[in-house]
Amino acid sequence: MSFEVPEHVQPIRERVRQFIETEVIPLESVLDERGSQASNQAMQGLMAKAKQQGLWALGHPKEIGGQGLPFLDYVYINEVIGRSDLAMVALGTHSLQDSIMLNLHASPAWRDTYLKPLVEGEVFPSFAMTEPDVASSDPTQLRTHAELDGEDWIINGHKWFTSGADRAAYTTVMVRTEPDAPDHDAFSMIVVPTDTPGYNIVRDVRVMGFYGGHCEVKYENVRVPAENLLGPRGAGFKIAQERLGPGRIFHCMRWLGQAQRAFDLLCERANDRRAFGSALADKQQIQVMVFDSLAEIQASRMLTLAAAHKLDRGEQARVEIGLIKVVGAQMLHNVIDRAIQVHGAKGVTEDTPLRTARFARIYDGPDEVHRMTVARRVLREYQRGDGWDFGAR
Ligand SMILES: Cc1cc2nc3c(=O)[nH]c(=O)nc-3n(C[C@H](O)[C@H](O)[C@H](O)COP(=O)(O)OP(=O)(O)OC[C@H]3O[C@@H](n4cnc5c(N)ncnc54)[C@H](O)[C@@H]3O)c2cc1C
Repeated sequence: MSFEVPEHVQPIRERVRQFIETEVIPLESVLDERGSQASNQAMQGLMAKAKQQGLWALGHPKEIGGQGLPFLDYVYINEVIGRSDLAMVALGTHSLQDSIMLNLHASPAWRDTYLKPLVEGEVFPSFAMTEPDVASSDPTQLRTHAELDGEDWIINGHKWFTSGADRAAYTTVMVRTEPDAPDHDAFSMIVVPTDTPGYNIVRDVRVMGFYGGHCEVKYENVRVPAENLLGPRGAGFKIAQERLGPGRIFHCMRWLGQAQRAFDLLCERANDRRAFGSALADKQQIQVMVFDSLAEIQASRMLTLAAAHKLDRGEQARVEIGLIKVVGAQMLHNVIDRAIQVHGAKGVTEDTPLRTARFARIYDGPDEVHRMTVARRVLREYQRGDGWDFGAR
């Protein structure tokens, strides 16, 4: 297994990198004004350019209008997409998980309504699992529920952190539909168009000082047709799991791209800035920051690619994916934090792209939950008498 970018992926990866460097990064400050006319126009322009240059929806399957890059090739592309937070939308990557989920599980009517515009970037999706009133890292506790009334589902409940709900055409909401079933068979996913009466956005929750479209939403007698159900009744957990596996690999690769950009800035600043008679680069405390960042990025990259290769071979890689979620999120946080430190006051201004990555340790499951599930899985192997032989994994 090689950790280098395969030769056949290098040209397309380089074109994506160039696009991000020359087209996306120069517009970041405009694009950051989420929801403004200037920001929307700039994003529309980037999307059109990405399409013209053949860089749109590279990882989406061909049968739904994407370019069908194989999974492992696309893993390496995600590493460069991570260089800018905004590149996912500019390149049409943001809709990958939702469009695959619709394609596999939606009724023909909903597939016809949303799939093509979703892949084309004409409409945006959102996904609602988390609720403010229960610890949602244990989703068996979710309270939002739906009951069948004739041919319709009636949904009631309260969600928050539905990212992108401020501009989404629809939300896929996780709700309890089977009150008498065991918890893991009790939840379903239902598609709710955001203009349905009773779907009420309470607020865009300001997160660490910024509005990022992480909305709080109340569902008050929301009525949608029975056919809005994704997959069979009670399959919510199974569909959520399907969505998360490869998604976490792409996430972790993008974190590596984000960390690479922060590391570049850290090293450049250390070489350029002088204090107390020498460059920062000459100070041992700064060299430790360089060393620690290098080691953490390299370790995280190898773990992530090892997990990707395992998944590509058709294995589940649950332990490996749990590991990279925790190690990758901590790595990103540490590297960005050190890059901020080396920039002094400038590091916390809008004059650098260094933004906290603190969220990464919480979304898609907090560190503690991944540690718990990974440790339990490995301990079970010992209970069975198999142990965990690193040489055989
Ligand atoms: C930027 C951002 C975007 C998000 N986008 C979405 C989205 O689009 N859709 C969506 O549905 N959700 C989204 N989320 C929500 C996210 O998935 C949840 O915050 C996460 O699952 C944790 O749930 P919770 O916030 O209810 O925390 P809780 O479940 O209340 O957990 C709080 C803390 O308790 C501790 N804890 C929990 N379990 C254990 C354990 N077993 N052992 C030890 N400690 C434990 C952990 O420290 C954890 O951080 C987003 C979150 C963020 C920050």
